[in-house]
Formats: sequence, structure tokens, C-alpha cells
Amino acid sequence: MENGARPACHTRGETRVRWRKREDGLEESAQFVPGYNCPVTGGQGHGVHSMEVRWFLRGPDGAVVLVMTTGFIPGDRWPGHGLSPAGLNDWTREPDGFGLQHHSRIPRYEGHDAEDGCGLIGGPCYCDSWLSGADEPVKRFIGEGEQVIWDALEAAYASLARGSMT
Ligand SMILES: [Zn+2]
Ligand SMILES: [Zn+2]
Repeated sequence: MENGARPACHTRGETRVRWRKREDGLEESAQFVPGYNCPVTGGQGHGVHSMEVRWFLRGPDGAVVLVMTTGFIPGDRWPGHGLSPAGLNDWTREPDGFGLQHHSRIPRYEGHDAEDGCGLIGGPCYCDSWLSGADEPVKRFIGEGEQVIWDALEAAYASLARGSMT
């Protein structure tokens, strides 16, 4: 769980966090966030959740994050718990885009409010999450490899300086 709040009913492994300085002056990080398999059904943060891969790119203009769910789930699954109620479809198996986040130093649209204490860039941060933004890069990633992800993040990072969604 994030923010240190970990429910007693299940545990989640550690995410190894390393940042690497790039030649262009930005920092990048690829992180594997372990999945979990909780016996409690229903409710946010329980049930089953697959491992996530999160790619980060950070610099003076802010940070961008691309998230992929992997379908890698620890432990057993059964109908209604990681499998569809009829047990027919394994809907969690496919890797899938899980959003593209922008953490900007400047507002990205009219009336955009800043948040303080962003875990990635500190405050003020103008956050903007785009749920479908990772779908296409993740689809291509599976066949073409990781460069697709970094191309998408570099384009998203470039949009931070412009202060508008592209
Ligand atoms: Zn739980
Ligand atoms: Zn932020």
C-alpha cells in the first residue's frame, strides 16, 4: 500500500526504487510493484491485484509516469477471486496500460490547482492523470520492446514545458 498504510489482512512485497541519471540530464526509473492476493473480497485495496510496472521520467519541468498491469498475480485464483464469477475468463491475465500521469511545475489547464507534498517532485505539483494514456504504448511494448515506453514518456515529458495536454 502507498502512504505506509498497510491493512493487516494481507501483505505486499517491497518495490525496489532506483533512479538513474541520463545523458540528457533527466532521471529515469523502472519499478516493479508486487501484486497481492488478499482473502478479503470487495473493498478498495483487497482481493487480487497483479504486479505493476511503473516507468518514471523526471527533470526540471516535473515528472511523468507510465503504469502497466502485468497480470502476474501471486497465490491462487478462483471464480470471483481473480477469475470471472463463472470462472471462464481470466480477465487479469493480459498486460494492460494503467494510466499516464503528469506531475507538472506549471498548470496544465485553466483553473488547474496545485497540490503540495507530491512524492515525486515535491510541491507545488500540478498533477494530471490520463487513464487511457498508457494503453497504446503498452500494446506496442509487448511486441516491440521497452523503447516504445521511453518514447511515450519523453513525449509526455516534453508536453510539461508547454503546460497543455497533447
Ligand atoms: Zn486485504
Ligand atoms: Zn505530483
